[in-house]
Amino acid sequence: MTYNLAVIPGDGIGPEVMKEAVKVLDFVAKKFDLDIRYTYLKAGGCAYDEFGDPLPDETLNTAIKSDAVLLGAVGGYAWDELPVDKRPEKALLGLRKSLGLFANLRPAVLFPQLADACPLKDEIIGDGLDILVVRELTGGIYFGKRGTDENGAFDTLYYSVPEIERITHVAMKAAMKRNKKVMSVDKANILDSSRLWRKTVKRVALEYPEIQLDHMYVDNASMQLIRKPGQFDVIVTGNMFGDILSDEASMLTGSIGMLPSASLGEGHAGMYEPVHGSAPDIARKNLANPLATILSVSMMLRYSFGLDEAAKCVEDAVSKTLDEGYRTADIAGNSHHIIGTREMGDAVSKNI
Ligand code: NAD
Repeated sequence: MTYNLAVIPGDGIGPEVMKEAVKVLDFVAKKFDLDIRYTYLKAGGCAYDEFGDPLPDETLNTAIKSDAVLLGAVGGYAWDELPVDKRPEKALLGLRKSLGLFANLRPAVLFPQLADACPLKDEIIGDGLDILVVRELTGGIYFGKRGTDENGAFDTLYYSVPEIERITHVAMKAAMKRNKKVMSVDKANILDSSRLWRKTVKRVALEYPEIQLDHMYVDNASMQLIRKPGQFDVIVTGNMFGDILSDEASMLTGSIGMLPSASLGEGHAGMYEPVHGSAPDIARKNLANPLATILSVSMMLRYSFGLDEAAKCVEDAVSKTLDEGYRTADIAGNSHHIIGTREMGDAVSKNI
């Protein structure tokens, strides 16, 4: 089977972590006899520097035709002062919108080997953590009408009923494969859009009678994630709340460098990327943790290519590498086995 994969390394640590993810994928391809055709594309600050556009047409058109997109990270200090439509982040938003990727799945799993990298006390972590944040990705305040005048600025938070319905279905289906528990997070005590969110989620949930659905305000949810994270299984929420809560959940796993994500639309195609950004503070120092990107490869194998066994092989190789004691600096804890980005890619590849 041939898979056309668009690879967008991006900026900062993006190219470094991507190199290791592709290294691991090459080993997987050999083991499972997969024919993966890579097309390398530019997006983000590096594309702005070369083409004056963070998301050149060629990148977008090739990504649209691909079976999946693997992305490192975009952005950095060098482009911070650019106008909004030239900023590297525009590439991300443009790709998500054009590919119709309305659902962002962000698992926050605490590998037992990393318990000492989790900032919470052992009694709070309990039996470990396995939370899936399902974030709406193409609506809400990041895409609403906005403006600035001489006195101020505004952004608009709008959700349509179909937008809420389809993300709810994604969350419910994901929950059916897990512990059948969904927590919908909103701010329905204040926001009209949240009241519509809650009403719509409740109605869609009637189609999934086995699911236990609960609701929580976002301010409480951010507190409960620290107080008692084990109470959460699948969290479904809007674009901005999901952005913030998934970063918070990421810290419970020890490091943002451990968190993969999948962005999905109606079909099988999807975009896979680490949750972290381009980390300009550690770029080009062989310090970045490539595991979030490697685990994003695993999600790609599972969700876009339907290769569960290959996906599991990657997860097992990561787990084995952690068992062997290898750590990048961000997850070092008390370990004396601190290695760099390249060495971590090598160690996981060996375990494939
Ligand atoms: P960031 O995620 O890049 O970094 C936050 C902190 O986490 C930094 O201290 C960094 O060193 C550390 N970190 C991140 N990834 C790591 C990894 N793999 N291994 C070890 N440590 C890691 O977030 P930021 O500093 O807020 O943003 C930096 C740039 O990245 C900005 O330009 C921002 O716009 C961009 N950004 C891009 C994305 C994306 O491409 N998806 C997401 C968030 C931020």
